[in-house]
Amino acid sequence: MTTYKHILLATDFSEHCEHVANKAKELAHQFQAKLSLVHIMDNLIITDAAYGSTIPFDLDLTAELMASARARLAKLAETLGIPDQNQWLEVGSPKLEIIRIAEENGVDLIVVGSHGRHGLALLLGSTANGVLHHAQCDVLAVRIKDK
Ligand code: AMP
Repeated sequence: MTTYKHILLATDFSEHCEHVANKAKELAHQFQAKLSLVHIMDNLIITDAAYGSTIPFDLDLTAELMASARARLAKLAETLGIPDQNQWLEVGSPKLEIIRIAEENGVDLIVVGSHGRHGLALLLGSTANGVLHHAQCDVLAVRIKDK
């Protein structure tokens, strides 16, 4: 029987993330696996159309957004009993960063929601789809039901 040793829960803090988190927690319990948590902040850049250049967001705002994301991550981690060293907050492409964290940390199962903040219209959201296609390990897409 397949058994997982390290499960990575990818959360986008959307309204469904608790449901996805509960599934990941149940699985970790069943397999006696380590459970880790990751949130990726989409690249904090804007394009200045006038100059055709890409400039970073205001640094204070970036720090504020990071602090707020860190607090949300810590709160979710606390409800799941996940220690600090198993929590990651990264900036970049969600799909690429989730896969990188999984590979660098010997994750053998990634848990995502079937879709999140990017809309229920798609059968599989873009992050879920990207992770599913490119991850080296198993991926569980927890079905999020349309209301
Ligand atoms: P999406 O494909 O963007 O609709 O989201 C599907 C699932 O991918 C979500 O339910 C989360 O599990 C995960 N996900 C999406 N965006 C992020 C993010 N920025 N950080 C971590 N996980 C994410």
